[in-house]
Amino acid sequence: MLDLLYSIVAAALVVSALLWRRRVNSCLPVHHGTQAVVPEYHVVLTEGAVVDESAIRDASRCAHAYDRDLLEVLPCDLSAEELLAVMQMYSPARYRKNRIAAAVSAGYMLLIAGNIGARSGLQGHQRVSAPAFFAQARRLKKYAPCRADLAISKQLFSAGNAAVPLPERLALIYGNLSAVLFSVQLAVIVLLYSGLLVAPLSALAALLALHAQPAIVALGTSIKPRDLASATLLRSLIMLSASLSGIRTALARRSAAPAVTAARAEYSAAFAAGTERFYSPRKTSCPLCGAHELRELIRTYEPVMHKPGSFMLEQCSACGYIFQNPQLNAEGLAFYYRDLYDGLGASLTELILGSDDAVYRNRARLFSRYCTPARWLDVGGGNGYFCCVARGLWPGATFDGLDLSQGIREAEESGWVDHGYQGQFPDTARSLAGVYDVVSMIQYLEHTVAPEKELSAAHATLCDGGTLILEVPNPDFWPRRFLGRYWFQWLQPQHLHFFSIPNMEKLLRRCGFEPVAWHTGEAHVPIDFITAALFILRGLAPPAHYPWRPQQSWLYGVWRFTVFTLGSPLIMAGFLIDMLLLPWARLFGMSNNYAVIARRAAPVPNPNG
Ligand SMILES: [Zn+2]
Repeated sequence: MLDLLYSIVAAALVVSALLWRRRVNSCLPVHHGTQAVVPEYHVVLTEGAVVDESAIRDASRCAHAYDRDLLEVLPCDLSAEELLAVMQMYSPARYRKNRIAAAVSAGYMLLIAGNIGARSGLQGHQRVSAPAFFAQARRLKKYAPCRADLAISKQLFSAGNAAVPLPERLALIYGNLSAVLFSVQLAVIVLLYSGLLVAPLSALAALLALHAQPAIVALGTSIKPRDLASATLLRSLIMLSASLSGIRTALARRSAAPAVTAARAEYSAAFAAGTERFYSPRKTSCPLCGAHELRELIRTYEPVMHKPGSFMLEQCSACGYIFQNPQLNAEGLAFYYRDLYDGLGASLTELILGSDDAVYRNRARLFSRYCTPARWLDVGGGNGYFCCVARGLWPGATFDGLDLSQGIREAEESGWVDHGYQGQFPDTARSLAGVYDVVSMIQYLEHTVAPEKELSAAHATLCDGGTLILEVPNPDFWPRRFLGRYWFQWLQPQHLHFFSIPNMEKLLRRCGFEPVAWHTGEAHVPIDFITAALFILRGLAPPAHYPWRPQQSWLYGVWRFTVFTLGSPLIMAGFLIDMLLLPWARLFGMSNNYAVIARRAAPVPNPNG
């Protein structure tokens, strides 16, 4: 049994190396050219890169020839571990077709087309530190959806980067995923070396496969790592040292970041004053139907960032409406949303919401059956992911976004939305009467304090016959009974309301909308069981680097690593169950979300009257 396990690991290591090799070969080649005309590209270089003007000219011609607005250029002597890290992050097909794919960078040279230089304020030649380079690469990639690529230049050398240690360079390449990927690497090394005791032959084969990875990836390609021999010989030791040091640096950097240190005092003062002031008085009757039979459904905690607090969801026995009771007041919501979608939580949010465009593309395709938009407003549009993807489907339409977070301003800067409104929808709607033919609220209404006011605002901003698109959690998804408080859609304390389909229909009609179509299966996102597994493990070992969490010693890091390593089969089981449930969800409409398309009908009644 163990022999089989290690043989599978060995095979997986060889297959992944072959895949990364294919990725190296699919990078664009920079050829030396002599044409006099050089297209205008701005250049960012890291302090370690060795390059001359002719290399920049050749790379500019390459970007122009392949019609790319942004070209990340890899040095031809990139070190083996950096090369493997970059190829791990880079999927050519995804990079070229996924409009919201995050930047992949080796951190040496970046070319930016003239139009992006003008829009982003980055002009001419700039030489910056390695961390500044990666920050620019991430920012500028957003200006070039589907128009960015990786290339390899024989005239660019990485030799001068010795000032930045390897673990730090790898951490920059891995970005938001660095702590996770270093932990996985450490787990693999521990697994392989301990395998030598229990299944010597197959574990040795797996270890040899790991050592052979740099050679499999690089030999015969246009990248000749300057350290290929030593990297092959010493691979597992280099990885062990890099992952240990990488984890330590990542954790130290997180908890010592100036923003974290500054916030620590503020958060501890806020909690010292007690959390009672964050709640409105508890309701004794159902806000939807007025019935007095309320029962406690779930008492739970904040599972994403582990801010202290306890939250209760109650259900009306008469109409089934589920809501947070007592509900957070404005001060409480501001407190719990702080550092969630922006600030300290921005990178986690980007990781969760920006990892896959398929979910946004599927939504856009579904909605395309009901509208051909001219002016679209996406309310609660966050960082503009949906608008950016939907633009690919309707290039001629105008896409505006509204959100409370700073992300919507950044979405406007990078062109993901045409206009970004930062604020509350009911306040902003007054100046936008009848402007839009489509308003979407995707995973938004459940976050709002007064859904009826939000729907009235949608009614006001839509033109006659305009289309409203809603997507909300489906409280009638039956496996949620099984998952209890670990169901991700409870998402406390953010989700304040859960409307069943009949309740949503009543609400829509009350606000002047005529439902046209309901979609359940197509709105399902298969992440119920994998997120439950993650919530359980995170509950056993919550993240320690946030300023509202008690500070911990390195021993706690060992505990966290052990919990997630031993718990990885639980995560895999969660993933498998989600995949098994997916066809049932699609076929029978058993879904964790539903979408509704509605037309603006009668004039809206006053929600206060
Ligand atoms: Zn009720």
